[in-house]
Amino acid sequence: MSASDASSADILPKLTLALSKGRILEETMPLLKSAGIELLEDPASSRKLIFETTHPQVEVLILRASDVPTYVEHGAADFGVAGLDVLMEHGLGDVFELIDLKIACCRLMTAGVKDQPLPNRRLRVATKYVNLARAYFAERGQQVDLIKLYGSMELAPLVGLGDLIVDVVDTGNTLRANGLEPLETLHHISSRLIANKTSYKRKYQLLKPILAAIEQSLIDRAA
Ligand code: AMP
Repeated sequence: MSASDASSADILPKLTLALSKGRILEETMPLLKSAGIELLEDPASSRKLIFETTHPQVEVLILRASDVPTYVEHGAADFGVAGLDVLMEHGLGDVFELIDLKIACCRLMTAGVKDQPLPNRRLRVATKYVNLARAYFAERGQQVDLIKLYGSMELAPLVGLGDLIVDVVDTGNTLRANGLEPLETLHHISSRLIANKTSYKRKYQLLKPILAAIEQSLIDRAA
């Protein structure tokens, strides 16, 4: 590489995309591929957190799902993919929601122990979605005690930590495998492409073809 190549590579603006492992990563990859963006390494077999891609100006951060809005809001990532559950729990914040990717679809639901009537007292609700659960029960005029958890919510009612849980449910298999049943739906969830507002304006020329390719791929998929 000549000195002039090196300096032109240095001044190319970079776009940083925040993703999370699991369904969001798996279901976002085909959409990115349609925009000419493929990870150079498989995150499943790497401990890295920053990945180069086939697009010389795009790099990917692999984060905990609930951290994606924070990175994008603060401009540490220019854009990202996050579930509506995470976005609403976090507060939509100072980001643009650009595209409903219609991936990683699920429902945010209440669930309880199968065939077990709820006790006739103030209910205890175990969840990592405390803000959404609080809003839901307040809207119904129902006072509940919320118990904040970070994972394995299905376990809580089985060991007496809460009467209900609020969690995302897809097939319901995880609930059923643990003797629970889905009850009420709070929200229908899909993943959204979000962008930092300043990055969106400053890097629009770089983002535009990527957004267009993703949108086209969603149209093709729906056809
Ligand atoms: P299920 O298909 O209902 O058995 O879901 C399996 C597990 O994956 C549950 O514990 C859910 O918390 C989780 N899950 C399902 N869909 C999603 C999603 N779209 N985003 C995040 N977690 C999910």
